[in-house]
Amino acid sequence: MIRNFTTEAVVLRKTRVGEIHKSLTLFSRDRGLINAMAHGAFKMKSRLRTTSEPFHVARVYLYHDPVRDQYKITDMESLATSDGLRRSVQRYYAASLWAEAVIRSYGGGENFSALYDLLVASLRLLESSPDRSVAPLSCQYLMRFLEILGRMPDLEHCGLCASELDSRDGAYLSPEEQLLICGRCARPGAMHLPAGALRYLQMTLQVPLQAAFRVGLEEESLRSLKEAVYFLVQAALETNLNVLRSGVGIL
Ligand SMILES: [Zn+2]
Repeated sequence: MIRNFTTEAVVLRKTRVGEIHKSLTLFSRDRGLINAMAHGAFKMKSRLRTTSEPFHVARVYLYHDPVRDQYKITDMESLATSDGLRRSVQRYYAASLWAEAVIRSYGGGENFSALYDLLVASLRLLESSPDRSVAPLSCQYLMRFLEILGRMPDLEHCGLCASELDSRDGAYLSPEEQLLICGRCARPGAMHLPAGALRYLQMTLQVPLQAAFRVGLEEESLRSLKEAVYFLVQAALETNLNVLRSGVGIL
């Protein structure tokens, strides 16, 4: 049984314990979610003080106490800072939303390495993203997140009758099955995904994130896209996300 080990991880969440300690939720590339204590990390002079802040990517040195089954952080080396995320409310809320989705999905289950790579690549783009690009980037991250969970709906065919979705009419969302469906199968009042939003998804999810990030979409399509994506993610996770509630008007 190895008690000391090193892993590359992102800090997803911190909680204050007592006056000076931090309990961290880490997302490790090779181990998934880990809860670990950073003793003294709130002290001004602590070496862990800044590296243990949310969204920092770090090489983390851990000790596992086999008796209590607890993890303790012995050191952290910064690999990428998160300073850019703190300079914009939009960016910070988006990163918080992504982190909450990772936690609520238990780190993406067995696909945690793929989810880790997606999260770190997305955070890197978000770091210097202009505010107007934050929402499309967030939709990209969340759709790719659904794909990793195996919960992304078919974007080309109606999920009920299998006919090809008409990219001039857009699609509808079936709330029960969380599928994209055609106009003939949609019930009255179904959420509509406008043509621009459907075409955007069909086009961008086939290319690497970096390239998709450069594709824009108009305001109205973006609004409907956000609504649909947030719905799909919360349905897949079977829970409402706190950050979406607290970030109304920002996200
Ligand atoms: Zn149909």
